[in-house]
Amino acid sequence: MKPKTKIQVEVNRLAKFLLKPTQEQQDYAINKMFPKLCFATKSTAFCLECGSDINVKDINRNRVICNSCGENLKVEMSRKRKFTSGWGTMGMAELVTSMGYDFQVIRNFEFRCYYEKGEKKRVFFWEICQNWYEVKGKRVVNSRILSSYGNYNGDMEIREHNRLVYGYYTNNNSYNPFPDFFHPHSKFRPEYEKRGINYKVLKDIRFSRLVDLVNYSPKIETLIKLNYHNIVGAWESNIIDRYWNALKICFRNKYKIKDPNIYKDLLDAMAYLDKDLHNAHYVCPKDLIKAHDFYVHEKRKAEIGKTLASNKKKCDNVNPQYIFQKKKFFDLFFKDKEVEVRPLMSVHEFLEEGETLKHCIFTNKYYEKKNSLLFSATVKGQRVETVELCLKTFRILQNHGLGHKKSKYSERIINLIKNNIKQVRDLVIIRKRKSKKQKSAS
Ligand SMILES: [Zn+2]
Repeated sequence: MKPKTKIQVEVNRLAKFLLKPTQEQQDYAINKMFPKLCFATKSTAFCLECGSDINVKDINRNRVICNSCGENLKVEMSRKRKFTSGWGTMGMAELVTSMGYDFQVIRNFEFRCYYEKGEKKRVFFWEICQNWYEVKGKRVVNSRILSSYGNYNGDMEIREHNRLVYGYYTNNNSYNPFPDFFHPHSKFRPEYEKRGINYKVLKDIRFSRLVDLVNYSPKIETLIKLNYHNIVGAWESNIIDRYWNALKICFRNKYKIKDPNIYKDLLDAMAYLDKDLHNAHYVCPKDLIKAHDFYVHEKRKAEIGKTLASNKKKCDNVNPQYIFQKKKFFDLFFKDKEVEVRPLMSVHEFLEEGETLKHCIFTNKYYEKKNSLLFSATVKGQRVETVELCLKTFRILQNHGLGHKKSKYSERIINLIKNNIKQVRDLVIIRKRKSKKQKSAS
């Protein structure tokens, strides 16, 4: 697009004076992005850097030094004679002042290498996108066009973000690449440097986000200055606020947080367990993974314990009602050689039965069903199956063993109940007679 506003015209003019990365800067990028490789089979090998043959006998523990170019190479087993690397992106930050403007320029370069046996490697690179941030906050984009697939094509031109591109609306983060790293020669406004922004920090956080963050919170500034970039990159601001005291203990003890996500899980678990997060003993474990695994496991156990306690309370509350309804049947007991069948005699037993056999008899409140009687079948004291009998039709409604499957005793259990159904029927009829008598007496 043709530059329209005064600032766009100025950026368009100034962009022409920006320098390409020097050879040294290109080499830095390539060394950082692409490992130096040797492709080997059992009998042949070659150096991808210079294309020369390598004697496979020189390979030692997947490494070899190329006799021609002297590079120390990583050996990969491959029959390929040609190879093209993926894309890598390097950022460069520069300062440009002119005509009353004061720009922080963030530039992005894409690199890729082409390798072939017998040939020296070829490097391709181009600049894909520049963001010009004016000191008063205006942003001008000078970039190749961003395709809907997220890659850059066409010429470097002044472009507008938040615009329709190839049928898609772009957002604030379009034309705002997040490079793999920044070159150490990058230059930042003194006020940014004062707040700790430098090329190292930008490995973990996008430049635009970092500037917003340091403006928003002095805590972020502290984290950056004390080299906790990975926390700023991985944690939302509210998490940083929540665990600020623990982080301060880390600062004081110069404790390096190796993995911010694992560390957050650890803090979550310890907070749940009411551990003292002001205490370095908890907050700065020597072995992060070991501590994480331990406390996360403890938390899980505590969670299960809490559920158990609340279930137990539920049982205590509803048990009298259940006993009142079903105690009539508690003397029922049927058995054959191995199998024993008796009614569940308390709500606590429903809980136990459901947990042992992993079904929903407790959670779905079968103890509240007035017209059902629930039997538990056991073999040598082990619960094997639960049976629901209808007290109106005296039919078996369902029977389930472990995880809703039938046990191998299923048929015998059903027969035991069917053969003794008269006992159950008598109890129901007696109860009916009694309640009729009571009614007529009153
Ligand atoms: Zn070589």
